[in-house]
This record gives sequence, structure tokens and C-alpha cells, in this order.
Amino acid sequence: MNNQEIVAAAGQVLMPTYARFPLALVRGEGTRVWDADGRVYLDFLAGIAVCALGHCHPALVAAIREQAGTLLHVSNLYHIEPQVRLARLLVEQTFADKVFFCNSGAEANEAAIKLARKWQKDQGQPDRTEIVSALQSFHGRTLATLTATGQDKVKIGFAPLPTGFLTVPYDDAAALDAAVGEHTAAVLLEPVQGEGGIRVPSPGYLQAAREICDRAGALLILDEVQTGIGRTGLFLGCDHEGVAPDICSLAKGLGGGVAIGACLATDAVASSFGPGTHATTFGGNPLATAAACAVVQTLLDEGVLGRCRETGAYFMERLKALASTSAAVAAVRGRGLLIGVELAGGRPAGPLVGELMDRGFLAGTAGESVLRFAPPLTVEPNEIDALLAALGDLLAD
Ligand SMILES: *Cc1c(COP(=O)(O)O)cnc(C)c1O
Repeated sequence: MNNQEIVAAAGQVLMPTYARFPLALVRGEGTRVWDADGRVYLDFLAGIAVCALGHCHPALVAAIREQAGTLLHVSNLYHIEPQVRLARLLVEQTFADKVFFCNSGAEANEAAIKLARKWQKDQGQPDRTEIVSALQSFHGRTLATLTATGQDKVKIGFAPLPTGFLTVPYDDAAALDAAVGEHTAAVLLEPVQGEGGIRVPSPGYLQAAREICDRAGALLILDEVQTGIGRTGLFLGCDHEGVAPDICSLAKGLGGGVAIGACLATDAVASSFGPGTHATTFGGNPLATAAACAVVQTLLDEGVLGRCRETGAYFMERLKALASTSAAVAAVRGRGLLIGVELAGGRPAGPLVGELMDRGFLAGTAGESVLRFAPPLTVEPNEIDALLAALGDLLAD
């Protein structure tokens, strides 16, 4: 099928949940993807921060091929070798002692919320049930995670919503301190807000959140679904602040394109997830965990985090130079290769994404007026130069 045929067929058989671009991508390699008509694009979205190693990295493809020909699935009633190898890698790279695997970011956050409430109950604190999260946050689309999400647009039409959720302004330690109290089970924050507009908090905010939680007897959950697995140039987003949470969620980049999520926790907290408390059929399956092992091992072996810090700094510097000469840009924000360009005067970013696509570049939006770039962590400086040339032209018009 060509582009037009795929687009037409989609409208007939798929639920209309997405306002999709009229584009069907059929093949990828590195930063490049091809549409069904054979046109090539440089992918500066990478599946929204998913394809960390670029498209079809040979190490990832080989791991998937090998595992697919060996064992695809067994129940979690049995031990699964690649699951153990992946958990060991994650524990070695992070604050965590234990891992629970699931299939998506929303599920990882759902597990984190359940674990926090259960842990409080086990501490003899059954009244500590509230989850405090931030305005403009994004935590997923299940009923609990959309309730924790600090954006009304994801909630409309889905009442009644679960109770025990509260939101406060992001990057405001005083507001957080005032909201956290004797009913708080946990505080749930993104180290950098992704969907909410690529918002990097002030230095010290995460540390303040840690201290507020410790003082109040609440747990700190960090949603690292978008910031984790090297996206910001360190393994976890919170590593920039030297802050360790009690629980954190991972997904997007973890499988490099294969569906997988993870909920990580310290030993003390993880012990509340005893046999029968939580489960999933597909979580941690051999295929997904073998893929994620290849992703994490490659990140470490090929020095991808250092490369991400360097190319991220270069990308940011080029964008800031563009912003300084263009009245169309209000701000450039981000960390590593998670970067937002806020357009001046609240101008919607959607049309600009369409114009970039016409020129052969894929980008996204984060909120109304922020252009989002989350390319493969392996993106090349010359690919960034090509994007900047096109973006400079478009903003000059
Ligand atoms: C994408 C995202 C989620 C949801 O992940 P899904 O895999 O779509 O369920 C949750 N939190 C953050 C910060 C995200 O960016």
C-alpha cells in the first residue's frame, strides 16, 4: 500500500484517538525513516523518545532475532533469564535494588502508585493514600495515571475518576511542602516535564522534594518514563540533581522500540509487593527483556550517554543562537537530547511541525506552543545542522 491507501484504510478501521499526520512510515535505519512512497525523513522525534539507539540498531535487531528464535514467552510463574539480566543491569545503574517489569509507562506508574499505597499500609499508615503530583505533568492514560496527570484535557469525559490525587504547581517547593502532610502516600514528579512543555525545574527542586517527603513520611516517586535511559545525558534524569527516589518508572527508551516498562524501587519499599499483590501476563517477557538488555548494554558499551551530552549541548547551542536572531522563538529549554523550543506569543507549534515534515524532518510538540525534539541519542551533528538550516528558513518566513 502507498501512503494514501494506508491513510484512507486507517480512517475506516482504527478508532479515531489520534490526530495523525497523513504519513505512513515503513522502514528505518539510524536517524532516518522512509514513508510508504519511498520518501526519506530525519527523525528528530524517534517515536517520542523511544528509539534511543536510532532505528534498527544492529545490536538490538540481533538480540531480538536471537531471542525470537529461542523463546518468546513463558509465564512469570517461571524464572526468565533475560528478565534477571535486565534487572541486574538496571539495579547496577540506578538507586534501585529491585525491579518489576510491565509493558508501558502508564503501567509502570500504576505499579508505582499501588506500591506506594501498599507500603504505607504495611507501615501501619492506612490513611496515607494521597498521591501529590504536579500541574502540567503527564503520567499516562489509565484511570489512575490520567488522574495523577496535571492536565484537564486528558480527564474530560472519563468521570468518575479515582480519589486520592492532588496537584500542585511544578518547580514550586513551597507549594509542594504545603500540600504534603499526614495523608500523603507519595509525591510523583517528572525530573523534567516532557509532555507539559519540556520544563526543567530550578536546581534544588528535586532535592527539596526529597526532603519534604522524608520529613513527612511520604515516598518520592520519579516518573522517568521519558527522561530515563540516557535521554538527558545521564542514566536517569534525577542523576543530574544527585537525588534518589524511593520508586521510579521507566518505559519509552528502555526497549529501544520494543514495548516494555519497569517500576524500580529500593529494597525496603519493594518488599511490599509480595506474591499475589501485583502481576502482568506479558511484563518482563523474554523478547522484550532481551531487547532492553541489548539497549542498555549498548548504551554503556558504546559511550552513548557521553555522546548524548555532547550532541545535546551542540544542539542546544545552535538552537539558542537561532533564538537570539529570531523573534519567533521565546525560549529554548531542555537537557541532553530532550529539547523544547517555545514559540513566541503562544503561537501553536503544530503547523511548524507540518512544515518541517514537508522538508523531510520529523519533530513533535509538547503542549500548545512548544516544538519538541527527542532524536535518537546517536544523532549526528551534521543531521542537527541539516535540521537547523530548515528550521532557520521556516522561522525567517
Ligand atoms: C509517555 C509517558 C508516559 C506514558 O507512557 P505510555 O507508555 O504511553 O503509557 C508516562 N509518563 C511520562 C513522563 C511519559 O512521557
